[in-house]
Amino acid sequence: LTQLFRPLDMLGMVYRTIRQGLTDMAEMFRLIDTHVEVADAPGAPALAIRQAGVVFDNVVFGYDPERTILHGLSFEVPAGSRVAIVGPSGAGKSTIGRLLFRFYDPLSGRILIDGQDIRTVTQTSLRAALGIVPQDSVLFNDTIGYNIAYGREGATMAEVEAATRGAAIADFIGRLPQGLDTEVGERGLKLSGGEKQRVAIARTLVKNPPILLFDEATSALDTRTEQDILGTLRAVAANRTTISIAHRLSTIADSDSILVLEQGRLVEQGSHAELLRRDGLYAEMWARQASEGGEEDLVEAAQ
Ligand code: ADP
Ligand code: MG
Repeated sequence: LTQLFRPLDMLGMVYRTIRQGLTDMAEMFRLIDTHVEVADAPGAPALAIRQAGVVFDNVVFGYDPERTILHGLSFEVPAGSRVAIVGPSGAGKSTIGRLLFRFYDPLSGRILIDGQDIRTVTQTSLRAALGIVPQDSVLFNDTIGYNIAYGREGATMAEVEAATRGAAIADFIGRLPQGLDTEVGERGLKLSGGEKQRVAIARTLVKNPPILLFDEATSALDTRTEQDILGTLRAVAANRTTISIAHRLSTIADSDSILVLEQGRLVEQGSHAELLRRDGLYAEMWARQASEGGEEDLVEAAQ
């Protein structure tokens, strides 16, 4: 019987998630497996964004109560800054993003945006303030224009066009005979990984959130495309609070602050130069990636 009900429950979840304006479909499908329903507090107000500063305050979390993933994590992402989170796979980096979107609630501790505990505000307002560019953006089998406009209900054509320029994909679209009306996906134009990421970036620009999360946003791309997209992401991140989760350290070395996560604990924190001087885990990872010339990255990205 449970097996019969699960698909129905999943559909309900998918529907609610779409209604809440969640644009990252990959993240959504990942949720279906193991979702824990989080509810708005009765009479919850909307999140009031002022500067868009983010604080994790002693956050403890595990997907399964027997296995703690984050062990009392505290850090701050000052408004308008660019903070990177690095560390071995499985350290809990993506989990931090899922908690920020409130797909799950911490077992203890708090997550604050501009001083407001995210559990006390509506999920709709919370998710409207957050934009994510994941590793593999999922596009709908629809037109490019639809895929971009999906970022925000009621987006105008002018906003969509501005977003294509911000995401540096306007020229590419301009060369297509049907422009924004070009169908993409299974029965339409097959986009490369880099083009798909640019469509996802344009969608995020239409949404125009004050807080951005890049979760390995360029790690599935070849090095040259990665460099191009990194430039675009940097421009998009200007004047926004940005959290970049990265495997390849060279892509985040210029962040205002770098958090090094290992097995759910913050083990180091500082600028690239400070962390190299510290000669700890970050310095070791940096040396390893420099000597291996990115081969290990390719293996990990393929996993
Ligand atoms: P990272 O992004 O640093 O590679 P994650 O945050 O994705 O790591 O995962 C941290 C740990 O949580 C891993 O051990 C992973 O297996 C586990 N995990 C991730 N998602 C789930 C889930 N939905 N259910 C149970 N365990 C999970
Ligand atoms: Mg991850």
